[in-house]
Amino acid sequence: MDLTPIHPKVTPIYQTSVFKFNSLAELETYYTSPDHGGMYGYSRSEHPNSDELVAEVARLEGASGGGVATGAGLAGLLAAVLAVCQTGDHVLCPAELYGGSVVLLSNELSRLGIETSYVPLAQLYDVASHRRPNTKLVLAEVLSNPLLTVLDGPRLAQACQAEGILLLIDSSFTSPMLTQPLSWGADMVWHSATKYLAGHSDVTAGIVVARDPAIAKNLRRLATNLGLMLAPLESWLAVRGLKTLRLRMRQHSENAMTLARFLADNPAVSQVFYPGLESHPGHDLAAHQLLGGLYGGMLSIRLADDSAAAVDAFIQKTKLFPLAPSLAGVSSSCSYPAATSHRGLTEAQRAQLGITPGVLRLSVGIEEVADLLVDLEHALGQG
Ligand SMILES: *Cc1c(COP(=O)(O)O)cnc(C)c1O
Repeated sequence: MDLTPIHPKVTPIYQTSVFKFNSLAELETYYTSPDHGGMYGYSRSEHPNSDELVAEVARLEGASGGGVATGAGLAGLLAAVLAVCQTGDHVLCPAELYGGSVVLLSNELSRLGIETSYVPLAQLYDVASHRRPNTKLVLAEVLSNPLLTVLDGPRLAQACQAEGILLLIDSSFTSPMLTQPLSWGADMVWHSATKYLAGHSDVTAGIVVARDPAIAKNLRRLATNLGLMLAPLESWLAVRGLKTLRLRMRQHSENAMTLARFLADNPAVSQVFYPGLESHPGHDLAAHQLLGGLYGGMLSIRLADDSAAAVDAFIQKTKLFPLAPSLAGVSSSCSYPAATSHRGLTEAQRAQLGITPGVLRLSVGIEEVADLLVDLEHALGQG
């Protein structure tokens, strides 16, 4: 079938595992040319839908080297670490790191002889003191989960550069609409595209982009050799999500700001964790560093009745914040860190991090904000 005369406005889903070659000469060109001479061979290595996704994220992040799209956010972390680390290398992280990243680093990559250690974010900037002779990479998040601690990205990037250590930033909570970490001097940016990039809670995906083309090439090689490549349909869904990223991030952020102010005044809530509030310890940093006056859609609260029973009562009453342990979709949800992301810790360890039994994380969607306010007022009310 000759598709040449067909000109779709939107890239179709190339739901094919393999591509055809017209001759041995063409096959030879595919294997020997830079970028395969613009051809495609086998979808584990490359396909048009993931190329479109990566090109768009690389453009938004200012990542001249390009990158790779993977079947989950965590597969992106695996690729990012293996792209720059060997057996015997060490990775330095903040203690507040996302639980799934901790499990991958400390339970799985440790078995390959890649070590990880953790220090509280406030101390991480002193990279010179916490590094080991074999430290190759620092991994940090722009906003931590669930208390939304704000990273001073340029400061960390400078400290890493001074030590000759690479910096990988997990930007899943902010997206390139709020931060472009390569502009701080980071080396790679990693997204759970499952979250804001795709944005509709209907796809699991990861993306890593790099400034250095040599690192980006390693990322793509690893995706091919480890089978990490994101599939065509998922790539297409993520590309479709990206088309509204700018609009969504604005609405997520505006809604979250309105809810944060409302919750701060609600007697059923003792504390609101949202970087957009002046009362948040990271507010000045966030105001200086995040783009567009936006602070994202993630916020956490501590209920005045600081108990699991009070959280459960909220969950039973709310209609618009279903308990669903993910985040960043167009419709709102809530999550209970003590039973999900931080369930591996003891209650005392959680308390030390500030995650007491009454802490609840909200992922604020893009619904009509008045509807969200009515629902929260009801869910937090007595009776
Ligand atoms: C969800 C998440 C991840 C992991 O991504 P998956 O797509 O679930 O594999 C990594 N970092 C952060 C901050 C996340 O929220």
